Amino acid sequence: MKYKKIEGEKEIAFIIYGIIEVRIPKKVYYRFARKYSDKDIITYCPHKNVYNAITKRRLYYIAEENDIPIIGHTAFGLIDRGTNLIQVRPCTGCNLNCIFCSVDEGRSKTRVTDYMVDVDYLVKKFKEIADYKREKCKDIRIEAHIDGQGEPFLYPYIKELIKRLHGIADIVSTQTNGTLLTNKDIGELEKYLDRINLSINSLDERKASLLAGNPSYNLNHVVNLAKEIANSEIDLLIAPVWLPGYNDEDIREIVRFGEEIGAGKKWKALGIQKYIRYRFGRNPKGVKPMSFKRFYQELERMGKGLRLYPQDFGIVRCREIPRKFRVGERLRVKIEMHGRIRGEMLAFARDRVIQVTDTNKGIGDFVDVEIVRNRHNIYVAKEIK
Ligand code: SF4
Repeated sequence: MKYKKIEGEKEIAFIIYGIIEVRIPKKVYYRFARKYSDKDIITYCPHKNVYNAITKRRLYYIAEENDIPIIGHTAFGLIDRGTNLIQVRPCTGCNLNCIFCSVDEGRSKTRVTDYMVDVDYLVKKFKEIADYKREKCKDIRIEAHIDGQGEPFLYPYIKELIKRLHGIADIVSTQTNGTLLTNKDIGELEKYLDRINLSINSLDERKASLLAGNPSYNLNHVVNLAKEIANSEIDLLIAPVWLPGYNDEDIREIVRFGEEIGAGKKWKALGIQKYIRYRFGRNPKGVKPMSFKRFYQELERMGKGLRLYPQDFGIVRCREIPRKFRVGERLRVKIEMHGRIRGEMLAFARDRVIQVTDTNKGIGDFVDVEIVRNRHNIYVAKEIK
């Protein structure tokens, strides 16, 4: 375990792998320190608070021993949308603050909690879903797609996760903003990773950092990384978000850049994404989202093959894992964890996470709820008042 120890006025903070911040009251720490090592104190001390060192939000570390399910929420764990692709979401939190971020990541006004899932737990449950799908859909090629509400390469066990998923899935792909990856990482992951979806939103340094919401965003690093990926065994898909009025001309330049460096050898080179306004996302002032019709027309005008279809990535329908609740079902649940945004709390039942929205209930409270959403095993419930 790699960690840095910081002694504050009232607490001792341990920053583990640069992301997990464990804070222990000084008095408690020094009492334990007489008998135990720092590593034991970090692991076993019950009087600790855990935070994400980047976002400074409260962080839940989810391991199998905690009996917390990892299916049911969009922010962490596994999502099966009824195809051969299984989304793997190891953690939340981001080192950038993109001005259009659909999940308001980085310095956030809406997100109050981060989550991180233990690698053994994630891999074990992924295999269970992959086995189920292989049994239900013959000759299916399973893709593990590592994504999430944040930057996957902040996950301290990301390389281990990729390597182990490679032993289970037929294809392993990931999305990233590229800022934390190095050329050496690409060399190391080449044998295990099939595709990287890399966000580049402008090739102009000033604009790229404005869009990233981070003055220290290093475009040069990300551009060089793109070239390195394109020259490796890993397929590169460049995935800019088109923000009308901000990066219209830049999108055309990115398309040309993708062609020049040889992105998309096995799959598509470009995955241009339409900016969409989300209620809990970041929505820059004055930006009018394009309609889907206009967006697709513009893509077709810009070049052949820029509009993407599921079949471009070999995505096919395959039986979804069984749902555990139906919409309208009422049940009594215990609130177990804080939710991702204010007013949301999490409960667990039948090996699923349930998001209880618009509630002022606290941890340990029991509440009667009605399931209002169960699509793709993502459960949202309202309190029955
Ligand atoms: S890199 Fe992605 S997750 Fe991070 S702030 Fe930008 S859009 Fe959001």
